[in-house]
Amino acid sequence: VRQWTLGVDIGGTKLAAGRVDDSGVITRRRERPTPTGDGATVWDALVAVVDDVLAGEGIAQIGVGCGGPMDRAGGCVSPLNIPGWREFPLRDQLQDRYGARVALHNDAIAMALGEQQFGAGRGSDAFLGMVVSTGVGGGLVIGGRPVDGRTGNAGHIGHVVVDPAGPRCTCGGRGCLEAIARGPAVIAWAREQGWAGDGDRAQGPALVATARAGDPIALAALTRAGQAVGVALASAVALTDVDVVAIGGGLANAAGDLLIGPARTAFAAHGQLDFVRGCAIRAAALGADAGIVGAAALVGIDGAGAAD
Ligand SMILES: [Zn+2]
Repeated sequence: VRQWTLGVDIGGTKLAAGRVDDSGVITRRRERPTPTGDGATVWDALVAVVDDVLAGEGIAQIGVGCGGPMDRAGGCVSPLNIPGWREFPLRDQLQDRYGARVALHNDAIAMALGEQQFGAGRGSDAFLGMVVSTGVGGGLVIGGRPVDGRTGNAGHIGHVVVDPAGPRCTCGGRGCLEAIARGPAVIAWAREQGWAGDGDRAQGPALVATARAGDPIALAALTRAGQAVGVALASAVALTDVDVVAIGGGLANAAGDLLIGPARTAFAAHGQLDFVRGCAIRAAALGADAGIVGAAALVGIDGAGAAD
């Protein structure tokens, strides 16, 4: 009988893994920075993290959330922010090394599933989880199952257009939510307005800290990002009829109400239909653990990228 599952969260900043029990609690967690370098270097770092968590025990099932894009049918990943992995056969490599069944999905979808099962979306039958971090992503969980769409990319709220005349987006479009609300874009906007940073401190944490201390530019930058999130959510909720949205990810977790407050205000201003107004906009509840918990939850979903 399975007592716990291995959840693996692979991003451009860190590789994290944990033992997750059936109630979504992480009992052993390890992480290390994602190395730059070739595919083998990244793979070796991942193996080191996983081996450390397993501590010599076997594992039957592994759930993996990874940055996209990916070819889920083939189990290959090409994360934009991990240049060493292009068409990297992650699922087969993990299966071969650990003899485990591997379920693989987009990291934002894993996060959404984790929040729906164990966090801010508990009890919701129609849920949108979103991440505001280095990028902006999201995942829909309807009837307890992640919504895949044709290619597994449903829920990409970061590329909902909120300002057709807005800034260029990394996707090639213009005025996407991500082009305005992703961490680096928020910081760039603040810099343009004259925000000076906070010494040598990393810019994301510095922006939130100076905003909390009352810096008007830092506050305006987070407000602007939150407003864009709220505008996108008004459209997304009208389209999907979800009843709960949870907002997480590094920037949103750090900024809290400085970002989610303006998001709620803009959502209320733009979302006027009764069913839209009935949707709750919440802060994500699992923090930085959502990725691992959600990845582990993927193994319970039939067909979540798993090959037997
Ligand atoms: Zn875009």
